[in-house]
Amino acid sequence: MDVDYQLIIVGGGPAGLSAGLYAARARLKALLIEKGATGGQVLTTDWVDNYPGFPDGISGFELMDKMTAHVDRFELEKRFGEVIRLELQGQVKTIFLDNGEQLRTRTVILATGARPRKLNIPGEKEFAGRGVSYCATCDGPFYRDQEIAVVGGGNTAIQEAIHLTKFAARVTVIHRRDELRATKVLQEKAFANDRIDFIWNTQVQAIEGDESGVTGLRLIDKDGTSSTLPVTGIFILIGVMPNNEMLPMEQLELDEAGFILTDTEMATATSGVYAAGDIRSKRFRQIINAAGEGANAELSAEQYLAGQAEHQ
Ligand code: NAP
Repeated sequence: MDVDYQLIIVGGGPAGLSAGLYAARARLKALLIEKGATGGQVLTTDWVDNYPGFPDGISGFELMDKMTAHVDRFELEKRFGEVIRLELQGQVKTIFLDNGEQLRTRTVILATGARPRKLNIPGEKEFAGRGVSYCATCDGPFYRDQEIAVVGGGNTAIQEAIHLTKFAARVTVIHRRDELRATKVLQEKAFANDRIDFIWNTQVQAIEGDESGVTGLRLIDKDGTSSTLPVTGIFILIGVMPNNEMLPMEQLELDEAGFILTDTEMATATSGVYAAGDIRSKRFRQIINAAGEGANAELSAEQYLAGQAEHQ
């Protein structure tokens, strides 16, 4: 064979693992490459209550553990390492790894996901890990009995604000509008939680602190009125950015935010290359969507491989 693999999947979150499950069951010579632990962003989610089949809910960690065990049962080949460059054009695509290795494959599924967006305000970098966090599941227990803030009004911010009340004395949600983006069930839970306060129509201008870490936030409301909020922690949960740095931009079509455009069958602008999950340009980022797109991308890749075989 002139290639190492028929399919290489880059990224081991729900999209990559689902693609891997389908590829392993199709007995493709397939490889999944993941730079950290398989599971992706779901690993940083405390509780998942909207993935079908788990009527009592399931922790993000356990769900991803089960997805990983599922691909292992079908013996998907996995490798831990970082993809630093990809050449996607032509019938044989090359994946360059950080250890200098080059892998040749006929098809690629890009499932590199997304990461938390930053506020880019004074104090954010300085106090990262010392009061500034992007992961409530990881850092919540450090804030027992303290007063903390959550920035954002989406599903992540509200779900994690609720989670943080298990530890913190008080959680203040700071949102730039007067209405939450989060789903109604989460809104109802948050409004009913007497440990959660809301500050509406307000942005965080700066994070202040001293050698002990964060001491407070400088806020500004929509009328331009400034105030300070004394807190020892701030969780910035304001959406996601694409993990696209290693991607060959000129070989793919991206939207204005840098997410990959595909057709409805997950095909990108380059033949034999598919995208699935949070890296894909779309409106809704859900675990179930990522999983479905991973399956779809693999089936498209399989069809492409079958078409290639017919022409040989
Ligand atoms: P999101 O839905 O994009 O919400 C981001 C929130 O942050 C919005 O409220 C937005 O305000 C605010 N925001 C954005 N930039 C800001 C800035 N510079 N300053 C202040 N506020 C800012 O992001 P997400 O909550 O991280 O969710 C990401 C995706 O995962 C979504 O598709 C979401 O549905 C999904 N998700 C689903 C669940 C679930 O179903 N349980 C859980 C977690 C995540 P505006 O509202 O004013 O735009």
